[in-house]
Amino acid sequence: MTRVRAYVGLGSNLADPLNQLASAIVELARMPATTLIAQSPFYRSLPVGPPDQPDFINGAVCLQTGLDAHRLLDQLQAIERLHQRRRDSRWGPRTLDLDLLLFGDQTISDARLTVPHRELVNRDFVLQPLLDLEPSLVLPDSRALAELRRCCPDNQLQRLS
Ligand code: ATP
Ligand code: CA
Ligand code: CA
Repeated sequence: MTRVRAYVGLGSNLADPLNQLASAIVELARMPATTLIAQSPFYRSLPVGPPDQPDFINGAVCLQTGLDAHRLLDQLQAIERLHQRRRDSRWGPRTLDLDLLLFGDQTISDARLTVPHRELVNRDFVLQPLLDLEPSLVLPDSRALAELRRCCPDNQLQRLS
C-alpha cells in the first residue's frame, strides 16, 4: 500500500475547544490505514470572518495514511459530524473544523477538494503549527512555509503550554 504523509489542521471555538481538539486527535489516530506521526502545540488566535465570535484554538497533525485524499476528507468530515459540526455562516463559530492542508506533494483541485488548502498561505494559525511539526516544510510548488509565515497577516497567535 502506498502511504502518504498528510497534514491536517484543527480549529474550534465552541463547546470547550481544547477538549474538542484533544478528542479529535484521538479519533484521527483511529482512522483506517492511518498512523498519527506527530501533533503540534495548540494556539489561541483571533477569528477570521465574523468578529463577534470567541477566539479560536488551532493546531495541526502529521499523519501517514494509505487512504487517498478524498477518502481522507470523508473521514475528516465524519469526525466533524461526531462533534456536531454545523455549517451556519461562512467562517462562523464551530465545534470542530478539520482541513486537509497538505497531502504528500500532490496538488488537487476539484469541486470538493483543493490541496494544498487554499487559505493555508494566508493564515499564521495554520502555518505556525505546520512549522512546529516540520520547519523545512515546502509546498508542491517549492515555496517554503517559513518564508510564507514571515509575510502572512497577524492573527495574534498565543502558544498554549
Ligand atoms: P476554509 O476552507 O476557508 O478554512 P471552512 O473550513 O469554514 O473554510 P468548510 O465549511 O469547513 O469551510 O468547508 C467547505 C467545503 O470545503 C467542504 O465541504 C469541502 O468539500 C471543501 N474543501 C475543499 N478543499 C478542502 C480541504 N483541503 N480541506 C477540507 N475541506 C475542503
Ligand atoms: Ca477551515
Ligand atoms: Ca473546513
